[in-house]
Amino acid sequence: MYSFIRSVSFEGAEKVCFNPSSGEPTNSKRINAKSEVFCCQMGKLGFSTGHRSVRFTTKKTVIANIPSMLTYVLGFIILSYVGILFGILYLLFCVLALVLFLRYVCTYCPSYGSRCCPSGYGRIASKLFKKRDISQFPKMFKTYIPFLSLIWIYPLLGSIFLLLTDFSWYFLALTLSFIIVGFVILPLFHRYYECRDCPNRENCPWAK
Ligand code: SF4
Repeated sequence: MYSFIRSVSFEGAEKVCFNPSSGEPTNSKRINAKSEVFCCQMGKLGFSTGHRSVRFTTKKTVIANIPSMLTYVLGFIILSYVGILFGILYLLFCVLALVLFLRYVCTYCPSYGSRCCPSGYGRIASKLFKKRDISQFPKMFKTYIPFLSLIWIYPLLGSIFLLLTDFSWYFLALTLSFIIVGFVILPLFHRYYECRDCPNRENCPWAK
């Protein structure tokens, strides 16, 4: 269900809801839980007027997570061929990276705690950590990216090791699958499915 963000001059973060048919801000106290109303945490970052935004349903959230889950699974399979311990450590690292992402990125995001967040992480973060200063979001995201990129780098290193020491067409296909999913499908999915309608896309390094 789509609606339009009409106002951008909010001082400090607050929850704002919009009637999808009129696009007008709605008093959140009058909202029926079943009604299709778009709610979002917004603050000083300044969303562009008229920006179309979307309320991510549970189904959309599940779909939004498929490419990243596939990336983790392929990374685990590749590193398990290097050694099962490497595969398990990789999965543990993915979990750690996710928890740190929730703490150090999602808590600074205007979508924290709301259905604006495509992946659903924003709502998980709101259950675990308190909200932070959203004006720091771009800085926190950029700081975190090098750490996050290890999720892609470890399986690539594992692939190179396997191909150099024990080449097979199967390992080559596995490597190409990981590259296609992790470096092509995942970014495209983020850009055209998740970030396309995100009210925070102007401020998010990932969406650029
Ligand atoms: S939009 Fe991204 S940064 Fe914001 S809460 Fe969701 S996952 Fe976290």
